[in-house]
Amino acid sequence: MPDKKGTYEMADQIPEISPVLKQGASRRNIDAARNAVAVALFNGWTLLGTYNGSDTRSLWRCELKGCGQQVEKFYSHIRGRKDKEGNWKPSPRHKGCLPSAKREAALKEWRERK
Ligand SMILES: [Zn+2]
Repeated sequence: MPDKKGTYEMADQIPEISPVLKQGASRRNIDAARNAVAVALFNGWTLLGTYNGSDTRSLWRCELKGCGQQVEKFYSHIRGRKDKEGNWKPSPRHKGCLPSAKREAALKEWRERK
């Protein structure tokens, strides 16, 4: 859950990190991976498999009720963003997801379930 500064609590577990990234992975890399998974969860995405870094696609599952698709995406495409008023906006709709009009309610429901 983002705080007012827009930072996120770290995920409880360290995600499986791509073997390529693991070589020489710094504490900063690991923290970035944990943060990415936490932000993704907040935005309705669960990491499947390894986290491949922000500049490489990873496999994610959309957790919105009625969707559940598995999609390879860049982290930057699922992390959401802040609008001018500082409110968090969900990530853009992916192909085949719920209609835009239903996504906001589904995301709210997901966040309340967590
Ligand atoms: Zn979806």
